[in-house]
Amino acid sequence: MKTDTIIVRLGELTLKGRNRRRFEMQMMHQLKMLVFKAYPRLTSTSEFGRIYLQLNGEPYDGVAEAVAKVFGLTSYSPAASTELTLEAVRAAALEAILAIPVLPKTFRVTVRRANKSFPHATPELLGLIGGHILRAIPEIKVDVHQPEAEVTVDIRSDSAYVFTESHPGSGGYPLGSNGKAVLMLSGGIDSPVAGWLAMRKGLKLEAVHFHSYPFTSERARQKVIDLAQTLSVYSGSLKLHMVSFTDIQTKLKQASVDNLMITLMRRAMLRIVEKIAGQCAAGAIVTGESLGQVASQTLPSLNVIGSAASLPMLRPLIMIDKSEIIRMAEQIGTFELSILPYEDCCTLFLPKSPSTNPNINLVTRIEQSLDWLDEALDEAVKGREVLTINMESNEQTDIAGIDSYF
Ligand code: ATP
Ligand code: MG
Repeated sequence: MKTDTIIVRLGELTLKGRNRRRFEMQMMHQLKMLVFKAYPRLTSTSEFGRIYLQLNGEPYDGVAEAVAKVFGLTSYSPAASTELTLEAVRAAALEAILAIPVLPKTFRVTVRRANKSFPHATPELLGLIGGHILRAIPEIKVDVHQPEAEVTVDIRSDSAYVFTESHPGSGGYPLGSNGKAVLMLSGGIDSPVAGWLAMRKGLKLEAVHFHSYPFTSERARQKVIDLAQTLSVYSGSLKLHMVSFTDIQTKLKQASVDNLMITLMRRAMLRIVEKIAGQCAAGAIVTGESLGQVASQTLPSLNVIGSAASLPMLRPLIMIDKSEIIRMAEQIGTFELSILPYEDCCTLFLPKSPSTNPNINLVTRIEQSLDWLDEALDEAVKGREVLTINMESNEQTDIAGIDSYF
């Protein structure tokens, strides 16, 4: 089969009535960024719920891989286009069956006849195409209920398309169609996956990372930049806010409430993230927290930590097992980076026995006694470094000073 087209099916967005047009535009934007930019000879036509990508000589494998990254697509099929004649359609359908690596024992023909001027009605076409295949391949049979192969013939006004395969797309909603959120990006396995799931659900992200330079190294910083770069492949670019947490952490440590250290740190982080979210008009905070994973992710901890923020906390991994999270990390390409053994600011300051059941009254009393805290939070926000990470290369645009950013 001469694959010269990819038929792309749009997902949940087809259900969204009035918003459909907006969603399609947002999806086309990501499609342009991820697919058309890399493969400029592609052209496309669209109809309700579908896009036909004409390869025009671009490689199917590369284009398909890029298409699979676009959010809001349920599935795609490699297809061969043919002239609008019965002979051409029959020949292409036979060729498509013969191109299946192991010849199927049974098959079924499906026809979509959007082009009503094509000179045969659908039931007649089923017989004409099926009969042609049966005559050409004596050992094959028709099974309309559970066929090993299905050859679909899609007859449109410009040409007909024939395909036998369908592959799952990313699903979800088009990037940015559900607004904007801030991702708390650590160097671990979980938060990049949480970020990807959030993007797939239509959220545009900006990432915030806390470091404790010079306690954390230059290589730990590079690891987070590399993770952000991997995520930016899905969004075109990604803003990464690098916040120094050294001062706050050191002072919190001195306040010597060892088992509440993580609780206090996480609450301080959330307050900073919320301020950044306010400045970039984000409506939620995304984290990689997963229930029960560590002391700070028990229900009481999640409650006490989460109550420091007033924006909705989105925790896409809250109910997901680690093995499944790892599988997703491998699939999106962040796993190998995440397991590099560089230190994180929280692990450096990890107490011997972090509380799994922090008392909110005690925590707020301690915070109220820290007269330096509010100013330190503002300082951390002001002094942050903002990098714009681009999908194509690891080059970043440094935006020095926040004034030039806003
Ligand atoms: P990850 O959860 O990404 O695997 P981790 O396991 O080291 O990293 P946890 O201690 O599980 O981190 O932290 C829970 C969540 O808190 C992270 O998923 C992330 O969203 C946020 N977080 C932790 N450390 C940082 C950090 N240094 N900068 C930004 N966010 C962080
Ligand atoms: Mg974790």
